[in-house]
Amino acid sequence: MTTVSAPPMTLHHWANGAVLESASDRFGDVTDPATGEVTKRLALATTDEVEAVIASAVRAFPAWRDTSLTERVQILFRFRELLNARAGELADLITAEHGKVLSDAAGEVARGQEVVEFACGIPHLLKGSATENASTGIDVTSIRQPLGVVGIISPFNFPAMVPMWFFPIAIAAGNTVVLKPSEKVPSAALWMAELWREAGLPDGVFNVLNGDEVAVDGLLTHAEVRAISFVGSTPIARYVYETGTSHGKRVQALGGAKNHAVVLPDADLDLAADQAINAGFGSAGERCMAISAVVAVGTAGDTLVQKIKERAEGLRTGDGRRGCDMGPLVTRAAQERVSGYIDAGEAAGATLVVDGRQVVPDAEAAEGTDGGFFVGPTLFDHVTPDMSIYTDEIFGPVLSVVRAETYDEAVALVNANPYGNGTAIFTNDGGAARRFQNEVQVGMIGVNVPVPVPMAYYSFGGWKNSLFGDTHAHGTEGVHFFTRGKVVTTRWIDPARRGETGGLDLGF
Ligand code: NAD
Repeated sequence: MTTVSAPPMTLHHWANGAVLESASDRFGDVTDPATGEVTKRLALATTDEVEAVIASAVRAFPAWRDTSLTERVQILFRFRELLNARAGELADLITAEHGKVLSDAAGEVARGQEVVEFACGIPHLLKGSATENASTGIDVTSIRQPLGVVGIISPFNFPAMVPMWFFPIAIAAGNTVVLKPSEKVPSAALWMAELWREAGLPDGVFNVLNGDEVAVDGLLTHAEVRAISFVGSTPIARYVYETGTSHGKRVQALGGAKNHAVVLPDADLDLAADQAINAGFGSAGERCMAISAVVAVGTAGDTLVQKIKERAEGLRTGDGRRGCDMGPLVTRAAQERVSGYIDAGEAAGATLVVDGRQVVPDAEAAEGTDGGFFVGPTLFDHVTPDMSIYTDEIFGPVLSVVRAETYDEAVALVNANPYGNGTAIFTNDGGAARRFQNEVQVGMIGVNVPVPVPMAYYSFGGWKNSLFGDTHAHGTEGVHFFTRGKVVTTRWIDPARRGETGGLDLGF
């Protein structure tokens, strides 16, 4: 007897506080990266659907803008409570579509939740300023107001956290939101939409538009969309920035990265090796703050490479739901691309110290994973700046060690890189660390901290090709991005100077 398995469920859009069924004849596959199985189909928006979802946000804006801060904040607190209670469900969804291990998925939800908590303080953050008697009898006040409909376009690697860098603040500030998630990992966005409804957010304030370039271009060119927050690869970030701004929108577009960790000879090399493992192989290297290049200075090199090698060989790769250290890559194409880079690194003459191409999933987490998209931890030594494993963002578990003679040579390498997202220095010399943070042309810097992701109340963003636009995500820059300023200059005539009509009788 042959068993016929049920067709995968189809995911649609979310608008006006409910699922909006798509009539599209274009679909994307959503896969479970640990098994390779297609688990869902995603309807890719038509231009009519782009219009319909944006219209939902447009309709909701006037009432939401006028909803009191007290009421907005109560809804945010309820969203926070619900997310705390049900974070595990969201983490499960992330792992099932992205592949990262459950603890990483839970960490992602927690980092997103920090922005929700930051946004709960929006009354304080939106306070304007006032000046009495700027000129005789003249007072001046400044206020910040919401923009209207804002679009958020997110990448596959943080299906919950990256949208949460933006939407809690956008909503708290009085905007309405259209989120266009990555088509590889759409379920988290729809799950969060339902949570907002449960929290009491009015219909149409938070909407989800599923799709590809058609959806993105629709958002970038629509007259009613006032601002775009984008996170993804550098070529698309540049395109989004140029197209959005040429259509009169405010745009922040965060791009790709190639993050270096500089290890000085005086560093604690066990700490540096532990952190290189976390930062290089966490989430299988699919993090914009992953360390992909370790610059070993002077005598640090041989010992450091040996310590990283020992640790990398001990990592267990497998199904992220079953207690491994590292899960699969997101798609078959990503697996093939990363393996191709390892081939290229070997061919270019780098020393392949640990090879992840033929990884066998961990025995206890191997069942059903034959079709999974695995690449194991990979370590190269003696990588030179002309090799593609150094120049390109690989976005996989491939760590390249570059040797430098001096601190100056190491910093020159970091500063010559076209990206400037994150970097770290490992040293016990405070003076060296101080110079590094002063000289390095990168937006986020760690001192003995490999993945220096700022807390929600600071702002996240890189320099150079890692960010197009001038505003970083969350923190006060996030509040600034989702609001615009007004200054009011006022003259009220003193009642003692009543005109011909007599004015009010105040008993003077
Ligand atoms: P991506 O650029 O392929 O996709 C990002 C978004 O853009 C998705 O929603 C996708 O649907 C859309 N998109 C893709 N191609 C498009 C096109 N031709 N026209 C219009 N829209 C298009 O990125 P990804 O592979 O999903 O994510 C990984 C990348 O994101 C990496 O480069 C990583 O460094 C970067 N990233 C950066 C940060 C940061 O903070 N700087 C954070 C996370 C990820």
